[in-house]
Amino acid sequence: MSDTEHTTSFEALGMPEFVLKTLSELGYESPSPIQAASIPVFMSGADLIGQAQTGTGKTAAFALPLLAKLEDDLHKPQGLIMAPTRELAIQVAEAFQRYARYRKGFRIAPIYGGQDFRPQLKLLKQGVQVVVGTPGRLLDHLRRGSLDISEVKTLVLDEADEMLRMGFIEDVEEILSHCSGEQQTALFSATMPAPIKRIADKYLTDPQHVVIQAKTATVDRIDQSYWLVDGRQKPEALRRYLETRSFDAMIVFVRTRESASEVAEKVNAWGYRAEAIHGAISQNQREKTINGLKKNKFDILVATDVAARGLDVDRFSHVVNYDIPYDSESYVHRIGRTGRAGRDGEAVLFITQRETRLLKTIERHIKQQITRAQIPNNDVVLQQRVERFKQQVAEQSAKAPSAMIQSVVEQCCHDLEIEPEYLAGVLINMLHSEHPLEPTEEMKQNRERSREENANRRGELQEDEAPIETAPNPLPDYPDVEMERFRIEVGRRSGVKPRDIVGAIANEAGIESTFIGDIILRDEFSTVDLPSGMPKELFNQMKKIRVRGTPIRITRYGKEAPDATPAPNKRKFRDAGRGKEGGKPGGKSGGKPGRKPAAAKAKKFADDRSGFRGSSKGKKAKRS
Ligand code: AMP
Repeated sequence: MSDTEHTTSFEALGMPEFVLKTLSELGYESPSPIQAASIPVFMSGADLIGQAQTGTGKTAAFALPLLAKLEDDLHKPQGLIMAPTRELAIQVAEAFQRYARYRKGFRIAPIYGGQDFRPQLKLLKQGVQVVVGTPGRLLDHLRRGSLDISEVKTLVLDEADEMLRMGFIEDVEEILSHCSGEQQTALFSATMPAPIKRIADKYLTDPQHVVIQAKTATVDRIDQSYWLVDGRQKPEALRRYLETRSFDAMIVFVRTRESASEVAEKVNAWGYRAEAIHGAISQNQREKTINGLKKNKFDILVATDVAARGLDVDRFSHVVNYDIPYDSESYVHRIGRTGRAGRDGEAVLFITQRETRLLKTIERHIKQQITRAQIPNNDVVLQQRVERFKQQVAEQSAKAPSAMIQSVVEQCCHDLEIEPEYLAGVLINMLHSEHPLEPTEEMKQNRERSREENANRRGELQEDEAPIETAPNPLPDYPDVEMERFRIEVGRRSGVKPRDIVGAIANEAGIESTFIGDIILRDEFSTVDLPSGMPKELFNQMKKIRVRGTPIRITRYGKEAPDATPAPNKRKFRDAGRGKEGGKPGGKSGGKPGRKPAAAKAKKFADDRSGFRGSSKGKKAKRS
């Protein structure tokens, strides 16, 4: 690799065999900047202040060295991690589990409020090496004597500024005061407000600062935008990007080897020519691939950051940040692959809801705003395809078909008794047999089916009760439509399936099923994603929709308390429901005279919404 930039490896950072094996399986090629800078500090035992945020690889930056340093025979907690939210605590615990795949007997206890004490007490009693939790609940356990931190060797305050913002800082301090003071302490925070600095001064000894130095960046010639996408929808977003851009060559940046190969495979399956480069391919192969790219043998290169280092190709007109880079510096490097040789370039960044903070950091770094762009919907994609096709025809039509070809056309029309337009249509279909110009009915059905399967699978796979995020996922067909997550009081225990919920909402609220997003089932409740901005009246009416006989009592997930009215006994729900309705906040509007039926309003809502995203009527017409 003609690599001029300094890079290190996980081996060089002293990671043990079991960690290296896992990282290789996970496809992590090299440490991210925060990892390269923090791991040596952790290994040395010094205290650390790290300025980094989610998405930079921060979790592994402390989890890997912590795992590497665990003592085998010590059955008390050796690592303690404080996190601001239960979601983050769970994520950190999951990351530890993932990285500790080959460390026999590793146990971690996630400890957070809102969960029954008993399972936490049981876990702690059984003996764990690492505890990760929210400050309040950790403190509860400390006070009860169920958490022993006397042997904690490393203490990590994760997202300290968030803990401050959420009012946990006193709890954090109290926990710190319970520690021996001899442990290694690391404080991660995206920002350094005064109270955090004070904590660092008081509880950390000669801490080493890890801030990834940002050089000023010039990216003026590059048209930058971002698309907000859900992780699972990235392939579809990429397909739409490819379909709606006319590009010379494109580079798609991903984080792991696996995704490099997977994405390249997908892109090829869509009828484009793509190759992948990543750290696991030989130097020879890499050079061959890059030469192929330079000689226009293919146009799309899928690459990890490491493999793309030192890449000297002027052809890139477009850069896709399929996975967000670890830091602003890599972002600048990545997009700097385009806009070369005095040409303008275009770069897009796919980000998920939880990565939006990293976007802000990048913007600060490049001193410019990255605008959000809407993901093109199906109609736009189709229109672009037609435009491209017309352009190809225009290019070809400069060269007149030979007399012989013209005679074939005449013969076909004559013998088959068809008009030239009809023949042209048949030929277009033949030309695009593998990748039809127009999505076929079968493709649409497949897409519907896979959506349903996904919904079902998600519904069934949630038994581990991972927390549900409040942020909704975008719709696969209308990713630009703003969505909101709702909670409904029917779950697995009522025997519902996602299709029952879709059916009830579609039929009774008149919201087209394509505008009903993800459905996540839990035992006692479920969540459903719907277009945001639902009129209040419709919302109130929706509370009464029944699924399998139970009113769904819809509320805005994470924004208002779930409707606690007990679900009426199924067999006598009619009576019970009627009796209670007047007293419920959701039932207040019921029964007023002269009201339009809910379905009519809901239908209007659906129509309004679809007007905002391009006519749903057009869509229907296409389907039938
Ligand atoms: P975090 O900032 O800890 O939330 O990590 C963000 C994402 O980056 C997670 O999905 C990690 O699995 C992934 N990640 C962390 N370190 C690496 C690495 N060295 N190579 C590739 N992916 C990584």
